[in-house]
Amino acid sequence: MLKCERIVKTFYDALEEGKILARRCSECGHIEYPPYLACNACGNLDTEWVELPEKVMCNQVLPVSAMFMDPDFKANVGDYAIAAIQPENAFEVGSVLLHVSPEEVDEIRAKLPAPVKPVIVQEDGYKNVHWELA
Ligand SMILES: [Zn+2]
Repeated sequence: MLKCERIVKTFYDALEEGKILARRCSECGHIEYPPYLACNACGNLDTEWVELPEKVMCNQVLPVSAMFMDPDFKANVGDYAIAAIQPENAFEVGSVLLHVSPEEVDEIRAKLPAPVKPVIVQEDGYKNVHWELA
């Protein structure tokens, strides 16, 4: 448990310095993002800190329905959509694609998969990683 808390702290501390960290499996090279101690691809327990691979694709994008729209978050970042993001050698993860209005979702979806780049956003007391089209 303590080790889990430390890994989360290391990740958020690095974000404060503008670095996005992941864990790489020493056995199969799989990337765990968000960082996780064990490799979910092969089960190996030996992983090491690396910076997130530069190549990250957006595989899917969905509009945020009015019911689930977070008004505080929207006031902070503007338009956004829900997206499936996949760093190279990692599994797909659910995240947020910034600067996408609900009207633009269909147009973007027609071009997927598309490369994205990370945007580090200041949220309430901590920084978080979201994405925008590269
Ligand atoms: Zn592995």
